[in-house]
Amino acid sequence: MPLKEAKSYLESIEGVGPKTAACVLMFCYNRPALPVDTHVHRVAKRLGLIPQQCGANAAHEALEHMCPPKLVYPFHVLMVEHGRKTCNARNPRCEECALTDLCPSAPQLIEGT
Ligand code: SF4
Repeated sequence: MPLKEAKSYLESIEGVGPKTAACVLMFCYNRPALPVDTHVHRVAKRLGLIPQQCGANAAHEALEHMCPPKLVYPFHVLMVEHGRKTCNARNPRCEECALTDLCPSAPQLIEGT
């Protein structure tokens, strides 16, 4: 089944949204569907990959579109890990982050600490 069709089918099930559908497709079927959880969403916004006002549902489409299919799985896993270990919601550790020089949010967040 084409990816778009598979997503639509899963999202037609009550209680299944874009994140759950993408998790099923990526983790269970090895398809290049990118789940955007709270970590992926936050880190992507801080890094400027998506606009600040981009909601989680829209972020699925935007991030998946910019990620090569074979990198969708590692991108998701590494964004979640980075969000948990370094780019925390409340206390991002920008001074220790490998992306500080590239991150448009770093100056403001470092200044605010
Ligand atoms: S520099 Fe700070 S805000 Fe940017 S990705 Fe790293 S921890 Fe997150």
